[in-house]
This record gives sequence, C-alpha cells and structure tokens, in this order.
Amino acid sequence: MSGDEPGENESSVDAAADGAAVVAAVEAVADRIERERDHLTELDSAIGDADHGGNMARGWAAAAEAARDLDDPDPETVCKTVGKTLMAEVGGASGPLFGGSLVFASAELADGVTAESAVAFAETYLEKVEDRGDARVGDQTMVDALTPAVHTFKKSVETDDLPPLEALAKAVDAAERGVAFTVPIRAKKGRASYLGWRSVGHQDPGATSALYILEEVLATAADRLDADIPDVDATSPTIPDEAADGADAPDGDAADAPDGDDPTAEDD
Ligand code: ADP
Ligand code: MG
Repeated sequence: MSGDEPGENESSVDAAADGAAVVAAVEAVADRIERERDHLTELDSAIGDADHGGNMARGWAAAAEAARDLDDPDPETVCKTVGKTLMAEVGGASGPLFGGSLVFASAELADGVTAESAVAFAETYLEKVEDRGDARVGDQTMVDALTPAVHTFKKSVETDDLPPLEALAKAVDAAERGVAFTVPIRAKKGRASYLGWRSVGHQDPGATSALYILEEVLATAADRLDADIPDVDATSPTIPDEAADGADAPDGDAADAPDGDDPTAEDD
C-alpha cells in the first residue's frame, strides 16, 4: 500500500460515467473476440476440443448486448451482468472461470473505478480463478497470463505509484509475456493436460483470450481518457515468489522444457 491520499491515482469518481466506460470496454472485448474467433478455435483445436473461439464469441456478444440493455448502470452492475451472461453462455471450463470470477470480483467496484478499487478487483478476480480452477502459474492456463498481469498492475499502482493507464499498459505487457510462457510448458490443468507432454509447444487459448480482454480494456481506457497507450519498457513482469513456486520462470527454465511430441517423455 502506498498510503497516498485518495484521488491521486483516481481516473474517475463518477459512477455513471464509469459504468458507460465499462460498457464500452465490454463492447470492445466482444468485437475483438469475434475478430479472433477463428484464431482462438485454432489454438483450442491443437490442444483441446476446438470450441474456445465459438464459446467466447457467443458469450461476449451476449454480454455486450446485456450490458447495453442496462439503464444507466454503475461499474459493479455492468461487471456482474457480464459475468452472469458469460457463465450462462460460454460453455466449457472457461465460462465459469472468466464469468464466475467477474461476478464475484464486481463487488470491489461498488464505489466506482479508481486505481485502488481496480487493484482490489484484479486481485479478487485472480483469486477466484485460482480457487475455481485450482491452476497456478506454470500449468498452461489463463492463470499464466492473469497472474503476471495482476501482480504487475498492483505493484505499478501501489509501489511504483504509476498513473493507472501506465500501470494497465505494464499489466498488458506482462500478460503478453505470460501468453508466450504457455508455449514451451506442459499443461497440467484443463483439457490440454490430457495430452501430457504433447501439450508442449502450443499456446494456451484461455491465456490468449485473457490477453485480448486486457488489451481491449487498455485501449478503451486510453480512448476514454483521450490519451495514447503508454509505451512500456519490457521490464520483468512481477509475480510473487509463492505464485512461482513449482513453476518454471517465465523467462528462464521454461525454454528447457522438452519439445512437442517427445516419445521418451512420461505423461506423469
Ligand atoms: P474446455 O477446455 O472445457 O473446452 P474452453 O475451450 O472454452 O473450455 O477453454 C479452455 C481454456 O480454459 C484453456 O485454454 C485454459 O486457459 C482454461 N482452463 C481450463 N481449465 C482450467 C483451470 N483448471 N484453471 C484455469 N484455467 C483453465
Ligand atoms: Mg475447448
């Protein structure tokens, strides 16, 4: 905690305006996921059941419609509505993980979107994903993108005292490297884990969706603030030691993991 006076990092204090911004972000995510539908499906064909693009596109289109239909909503209500819609419309593992966690974390935005409430929201969201899916960094899931993003965002706001947009840009950058980190590792959770070592060499679809969502939240925030997306140095993403326990370092040992279809590798 920085102990700063409230207000210094606040991007907005008006709940109605914030609600409109959250709706705009949801619409941007829905458009992006629709554009990436085939790519997400391709990723899921390689290590899953080829439904991720369709699941997510259907869910986010319905979520955007539900968000648009709300009458002058606040951020908590938008997030809760979107989360419930994702839970109802996105099948598979990712619906309850993306959607249920959003419903739960939405309560952190009850007093509007500030840098502080956004950090609390992000942390609660990640905790809920971990609770529900029991995955940690290094299991080749969406957690590999979300964990560095959330911890980088928190550190950027609370320790480095960066403006919210820069903190968000750093979080997106960390998520991007989290997605790359899923490629050389082996899936230990979800459908891809059935493949054992054959999951190595493939980018995780859920981590990829998580990155697209974060990228669109950043783009929408920059747009609403009438600012350019800040250039961020590719400094190391921040994850706490306990999150990395048992996992390969994002920029280190992972490259030593065995290649794709290593016939000599045991599955367990
Ligand atoms: P399904 O695997 O049921 O077909 P999707 O294809 O929609 O569901 O989503 C797959 C994605 O869900 C994976 O790429 C991974 O990121 C994520 N996922 C699967 N299981 C878990 C888990 N236990 N914890 C976190 N994320 C998971
Ligand atoms: Mg699937």
